[in-house]
Amino acid sequence: LCETSVVLMLPLSAAHDQIKRTNNNIRAFIAKPVIDEDMAALIEYVKSHNSMPGTDAAIPFLGQKYAVPIHVQEDEKNEWGAATRILLVEDNPVNQEVAAGLLQEFGLSYEISANGMEALAALQIATQQYPFSLVLMDCFMPDMDGYDATKNIRRGVAGECVRKIPIIAMTANAMKGDEEKCREAGMDDYITKPVDPEVLLNTLKRWLLSDTDASLNAEEGKQREQTKHLATAVKDNSQIWDYAAVLRRVNNKPERIDKLIDLFMANMPERMALLEQSLIDQDLEQAQYAAHAMKGVSGNLGALALAACVGKLEAHAIAGDLTAAETLASEVKNAYQRTLEAFSDYQSRT
Ligand code: MN
Repeated sequence: LCETSVVLMLPLSAAHDQIKRTNNNIRAFIAKPVIDEDMAALIEYVKSHNSMPGTDAAIPFLGQKYAVPIHVQEDEKNEWGAATRILLVEDNPVNQEVAAGLLQEFGLSYEISANGMEALAALQIATQQYPFSLVLMDCFMPDMDGYDATKNIRRGVAGECVRKIPIIAMTANAMKGDEEKCREAGMDDYITKPVDPEVLLNTLKRWLLSDTDASLNAEEGKQREQTKHLATAVKDNSQIWDYAAVLRRVNNKPERIDKLIDLFMANMPERMALLEQSLIDQDLEQAQYAAHAMKGVSGNLGALALAACVGKLEAHAIAGDLTAAETLASEVKNAYQRTLEAFSDYQSRT
């Protein structure tokens, strides 16, 4: 039995620590939860390394190699300046959680408003003692959407001193022309959802640290990011759950994934029911609303198949094509079920 190799399962966050060899039989570490790809890599590794490595040899950490965290150094966090504060305007709890988690990670303080009305109020109240530095603005929200909120801010409704505050749109890219619509409303920049941590960080740097290289190379940076968006757009949309993508989005904090899944479970049955009911009622506006919300949430959680087919359904609803929307309903339901299974399977393993 002393020939048996031990492979320790550890949370991915441990990969960045120096792990001491406590047992000479430890052959490798593997990230938890173990995904198929990592298991294959492990078998390959054990097969090609027959003998035990020496005591001082590095122990390989296998797993989720694509989930490279963004490291924001302490001095980099201080670069923002102590008074820097972000207003995050987003109606969906899952999307709020993802964006807020990233802002925290970047060392930025923030406040959340759930719609345009709340955002205007927050800006108005804040101006007296502790002003906001930048607004991250979702586009579709109940009561007052991001476009109207922006127009109102630019008109001075929230106060003269915030009229020119940088406003970054967060769009789910439902239609071509989204960018123009944001610019017309008076937004300064836009990023697409699901939010890529690196793109968000670079965009924030560009607007908050105006005297850095980031702004000098703004155009170049923007172009690079666009290319990156294209690269992610051609991704395989048949995948039920892209765990590595969501792990990256939460900057390698698996405990945040648990929270996101909880929110998904609490949020989605209602949206799914709304979508189904709207198709029965032949209410395309309602269907568009429900599909849009589902697309955003599932995209953020890396539920690619679900995000892709509700996205298609949303496009049909926008185009007014009820028949096409209806034919997609079973595909959506199927993807939804399989996503739920993948999440509950994950919850039972962790
Ligand atoms: Mn929204």
